[in-house]
Amino acid sequence: MRLLVVEDDPSISEPLCQGLRREGFVVDLVESGAEALAADAADLVLLDLGLPDVDGRVVCRELRARSDVPIIVVSARGDEIDRVTLLELGADDYVVKPFGFRELAARVRAVLRRTSADDGRDLGAALDEPEMMVVGDLHINRRTRKVVCDSTPVSLTPKEFDLLVYLASEPGTVRARETILSEVWDEHWWGSTKTLDVHVASLRKKLRPDLIETVRGVGFALSDRRESG
Ligand code: CA
Repeated sequence: MRLLVVEDDPSISEPLCQGLRREGFVVDLVESGAEALAADAADLVLLDLGLPDVDGRVVCRELRARSDVPIIVVSARGDEIDRVTLLELGADDYVVKPFGFRELAARVRAVLRRTSADDGRDLGAALDEPEMMVVGDLHINRRTRKVVCDSTPVSLTPKEFDLLVYLASEPGTVRARETILSEVWDEHWWGSTKTLDVHVASLRKKLRPDLIETVRGVGFALSDRRESG
């Protein structure tokens, strides 16, 4: 597994890269946004928001626009952070400095586990779950992570895709907000309930307004009604 660490502060990047290498990762370190955007493809990006040249948010959006690579954003405490915006930019998870190495390593592994399972690299998951999911006019390919709605390909962020797959695994079944957050994000997720609302709103906008039903006070369900137009 190759990690790209984007961090301009050596007092953070040196112990971080050492620790990650000890954990068995191949680590590339760059110290600016420009270098991050020019770097070779990685399996996961750890992205500092406070970079000397380009705003980390811009780097995040740019990386997301060109690939599905998982991105964990690292930010200094006290930064003016709009977490919702970060998620809209396509970040998969988020840590605040100062962070413990164990916490960060656990998050890296959790994000990689999720994304490799979705890629079909996890054989157990691949055997249990069908590659193609079809709900009405919605077609989801879990292996290629491609989504087609009403015969039109739709581009989703990794988290939007994960959320859609989770809801589509049992159409019509109401999933509680807390369950969705722990299943689609993870136990280390910092737990803003806004996160979920932002992703649901985005899926409705990209796919169909009535695709996901809100069950007030409980959670969400994927509509299993066919769209008649
Ligand atoms: Ca910095």
